[in-house]
Formats: sequence, structure tokens, C-alpha cells
Amino acid sequence: MRSCWLNGSFVPEDQAQVSIFDRGLLFGDGVYEVAAVFNGRLLDADRHLVRLERSQRELSLPAPYTSTVWLDVMQELATRNEIREGLVYLQVTRGVAERDFAFPASIKPTAFAWARPKRLSDDPNASGLTVHVVPDIRWGRCDIKSTAMLAQVLAKQAAREAGAGEALMHENGVVTEGGSSNVWIVNQGELQTRPVSEDILAGITRDVVVEVARELGLVVRERAFTVEQAMAADECFLTSATSFVLPITRIDQHVVSNGQPGPVTQRVRAAYLARAERLTAALVGASA
Ligand code: PMP
Repeated sequence: MRSCWLNGSFVPEDQAQVSIFDRGLLFGDGVYEVAAVFNGRLLDADRHLVRLERSQRELSLPAPYTSTVWLDVMQELATRNEIREGLVYLQVTRGVAERDFAFPASIKPTAFAWARPKRLSDDPNASGLTVHVVPDIRWGRCDIKSTAMLAQVLAKQAAREAGAGEALMHENGVVTEGGSSNVWIVNQGELQTRPVSEDILAGITRDVVVEVARELGLVVRERAFTVEQAMAADECFLTSATSFVLPITRIDQHVVSNGQPGPVTQRVRAAYLARAERLTAALVGASA
């Protein structure tokens, strides 16, 4: 059985249980992170933990564990569950208390984590993904990685019903981001993605891809674009910790370019994979 982690202990999945009075359950009053496991090792988990600290701070959620503890827990979950390629999920909620919207006076956060396998190096969507356009109906602090995600649940369900693999969210025609990814376009070899603000999540993969692309000598512009511009772009792709870089080849009925993954997208995906390989191989070597 899968080994999970809850409030300081590793427990089998069926013993990893929380109260019905947990504010994560009652209000979505919690934050989370997802980091990839590659070659059995965490990828960029340190960066995810910096973002976790920020999310906690923005919600005045006392951090129950340091990044050092989380790193150990996350790696141990990958190891115990024999994950070669996959992900580690962690969540912190404000904890258990009598239901009251405002913060209870003294309350201990609930923290848990689990891991699961996922194909990353040979992602079946690497040959191209369809996205479904939906209005972005979320709140004003999308920069906080909160577990309150009903808008994305509805967006991604609508995408599934439309036969698409991801939602493409927009505000008045201007793309914000994917249901659980950042979105990019490519024109004349130049990459473009929306600047970070309170309107989107500052994706860790987005940051890394900015670095990787610039190392390849590519120009990256942080500027918003419309759904129409995405449809007319030479290439379109999305990024997230557990999909890396995936080509978007259709936007609803509209075929992007010739419907095949674009050359720049493929170059960036290959460079991202090479970096992941390099970082995790170095870690495997170090612990051997
Ligand atoms: N935007 C949203 C709304 C997301 O949920 C995610 C996935 N966590 C991302 C972007 C991508 O972020 P990351 O690269 O850190 O996974």
C-alpha cells in the first residue's frame, strides 16, 4: 500500500485521515505544492518550497515545517513508493476548529503529503494537446497557490467534456493561464508569456523555461496575449511542474499552425528534459 505522510509521520494511505472540521475541507483554507520526481529524485523542490512559504505568508498561515523538513519528507515519499518518474503533492491547511470564517485563536495547521507515478520523459501529450477556451472566473489572488480551486475544477471538467486536455482561461479575450499550467506563444522564434501578477500563478516551470530558453539564445517577452493571438501564433505550448513543456496543437476547433508540435517548442522541451536529467543525475551521483 502507498505510504503517505501526515502531521509528522509516515502512514499507510488508509490511515492518512483528517477531521471533518478541518478548514481545508470546510473553506479550502489551505495551500499546496506539487513537485516532479525524475530519476527517483525531486526536481526543483527547493523553488517549490520558496513558493509554499510565500503562499503561507500571504494567507497568514503559520508554517508548520521548514523547507529542510519538507525536502526530506518529499524525497522519502518518492523513495518509499519507488517513484522513478512522478510527483509529490503536499498540502498545509489552517487546521481543525469549530466552523467560523475568521481565523480561530489557537489552531495547529494540518500538513500532509503523498506521491504518485506519472510519465514525464515520455508524456503521451508530448505529441500535442488540445485546449478548451473558458472565461477565467477566479478570485483576485491567483498568485497564491491555494487549494480553493472550484473555478479550475469547472474549467478542466468543461475541457474534458469538449475532448480537450487542458483549459485555456481568459479575461475579456486576454489569456491568463491554463487550468493548471502557464501558457506561451512563439512567433518568429520569440517566446511570449504573460507577466507574473496577482492574476496568475508564478509557475516554477515558467521561471525555469525563461532561463532555459534564454540559455538557448531565444528571446523571451513577458507580455500578455489574446486568445486570437494564440490561435494565430506560429507555436503555442504550456508549462507545469508535472507536464514540463507540452505543445498545444489545437485551441478548440482551431488548429495551431500545421497541427504539429513546433520546432521551438520541441527545442525548449528537449532542453528542459536535458536540464532535469542533469540535475537529478547529479543528485543520484552525490548520494551514491
Ligand atoms: N498555473 C496554475 C493555475 C497552476 O495550477 C499551475 C500548476 N501548479 C501552474 C500555473 C504551473 O505552475 P508550476 O510550473 O509551478 O507547476
